[in-house]
Amino acid sequence: MLRLYNSLTQKKEIFKPLAKNKVSVYVCGITPYDTTHLGHAFVYVFFDVLIRYLKYKDYRVNYTQNVTDIDDDLLKKAKEDGIDWKKLGKFWTDRFLKDLKALNVLPPTHYVKATDSVSEIIKIVNGLLGKGYAYRKNGNVYFDVSKNKGYGKLSKYSMAQMKLLLKERGGDPDDPNKINPLDFILWQKSKLDEPSWGAPFGDGRPGWHIECSAMIKQYLGDQIDIHGGGKDLIYPHHESEIAQSESYTDKKPFSKFFMHAAMVMSCGEKMSKSLGNLVMVKDLLKKYSANTVRWYLLSYHYRSPWEYMETDIKDCNEKIKMIEKALNIKVKKGKNLQEYVKKFEEAMDDDINTPKVLTTLEALAEKILANKDKASDEKATLVELLNLLGFSFKS
Ligand code: ZN
Repeated sequence: MLRLYNSLTQKKEIFKPLAKNKVSVYVCGITPYDTTHLGHAFVYVFFDVLIRYLKYKDYRVNYTQNVTDIDDDLLKKAKEDGIDWKKLGKFWTDRFLKDLKALNVLPPTHYVKATDSVSEIIKIVNGLLGKGYAYRKNGNVYFDVSKNKGYGKLSKYSMAQMKLLLKERGGDPDDPNKINPLDFILWQKSKLDEPSWGAPFGDGRPGWHIECSAMIKQYLGDQIDIHGGGKDLIYPHHESEIAQSESYTDKKPFSKFFMHAAMVMSCGEKMSKSLGNLVMVKDLLKKYSANTVRWYLLSYHYRSPWEYMETDIKDCNEKIKMIEKALNIKVKKGKNLQEYVKKFEEAMDDDINTPKVLTTLEALAEKILANKDKASDEKATLVELLNLLGFSFKS
């Protein structure tokens, strides 16, 4: 039985989807201007493994991921570089998709752009205004958090903590247009040189949080099974998504599970563009194979923060060499060893414990190397489990 840690309840829960045999998953995608660093890869490779495992468990999975192709940071970067925001977004989205393909990450069922969902966004903002959850001020539309009693239910932060974090995370608690400093923008008046869409409540462009709520509604419906992303999205992004979506759908629980991948550090700090400590996937792939990078990422549990160390990825490279050696041993066709398949399932069922699964793979490889041509069943099992985790070896 699959158990997953749910950030909403802060405990591991038995995973039971809303509909039998069908699972809907939404993972917040990138804002395309600084991709793809190891922090991104950690999130998307983890969800790739989760999706592969859900399919292994015979669920039909509708996995939707977005690209935030209209956003304050993206427009700022385009202005700084003196290039068209659309061109900038396309360039970095293409880079991201290329990097993920190189890492053997399967494409989502729907890969959607925020700019393609503007009419859905307008519909929801209009609905929230009509239901009294939002207000207009100086051309902007804000969500009124005082109308949402559960605001903070995901992050468990107090109002004071949220106010502090909002400032750190690019929000503006001091915006004079707001009634409450935690209110967030649903729609904003565009500056003269910014893109703008026509809307009944005033021309402008969408805020960040509403984009995901709209794409989820459009591609997956009012309620989903799993909503994922990096841990830094818990507040304000996911908290605000819950508030606006549940208000719009008259309190239908938005997502059963929220799953968050931990942050990847580099030089003692969270990997981020502003700190200049990014480790890019493209650069790692010049030195190491995609299998090594995948092994390295999966050697950490998705909820444990970790720090990039060259010595660690080198160790993983040695492990991949050992696996390759084991796979090169010629054996007769074998069958899967249930004892190992069971170990794999037990570890995966326990909140996708990939580090534990990797130790099982190592043990199998060691057995093959020790028993050589007598290890046909071990080899068949190793090949099967490597495939299930998304490794790709030539055989
Ligand atoms: Zn999102």
